[in-house]
Amino acid sequence: MSEEVLEGTDTIEAGYVTVEDLKRNDRIPPLKALERAPMPVIDCLEDIPCTPCRDVCPTKAIVMKNMIDRPEIDWDKCTGCTLCAQACPGLAINIVNYFFGKKSLRKPGYEDYSLVMIPYELTPIPRKGDVVDVYDRGGKLVGEAEVFSVIKSPKFGTVLVNILVPQGWAFEIKHVEVRRR
Ligand code: SF4
Ligand code: SF4
Repeated sequence: MSEEVLEGTDTIEAGYVTVEDLKRNDRIPPLKALERAPMPVIDCLEDIPCTPCRDVCPTKAIVMKNMIDRPEIDWDKCTGCTLCAQACPGLAINIVNYFFGKKSLRKPGYEDYSLVMIPYELTPIPRKGDVVDVYDRGGKLVGEAEVFSVIKSPKFGTVLVNILVPQGWAFEIKHVEVRRR
């Protein structure tokens, strides 16, 4: 494989953003931040002229010196408000509430579960309580998950689906699909 890298892009060798790509670009939230609040996982790794995530962030946790830069995040400033995921036109941001099972749900058997918020643009829109198929970043079926809640951003109209998944899936998954019956 060629070592040549186009200026303004990352070496996304798989053709999609892998967890390794995220790690290399400091996009996996540190445990300390995950213990404090839900955290965004921003897949955006190319220099494109786009700034809604930065502009909407109330705490200035997302930084771009120029409008064409990639978004960088200051984990200490992030409050987990989810506005960046609501505003992103590229559906590039998941919100991971890593310790949701242990800290908030407190349901026997769900101690090691996370709540992952995934932007969704297909129809039909999943409903609370649905069981949906869950796919990883490469489009491979990972398994099924329960829809905990669905919200529609009042400001941006983005639909965001919250699913309960084992913590081991939290950064791997990227898409859900309502099962066809
Ligand atoms: S979740 Fe909220 S505070 Fe955190 S980066 Fe996104 S907009 Fe900013
Ligand atoms: S709004 Fe979305 S696509 Fe635009 S820079 Fe931010 S993460 Fe990337």
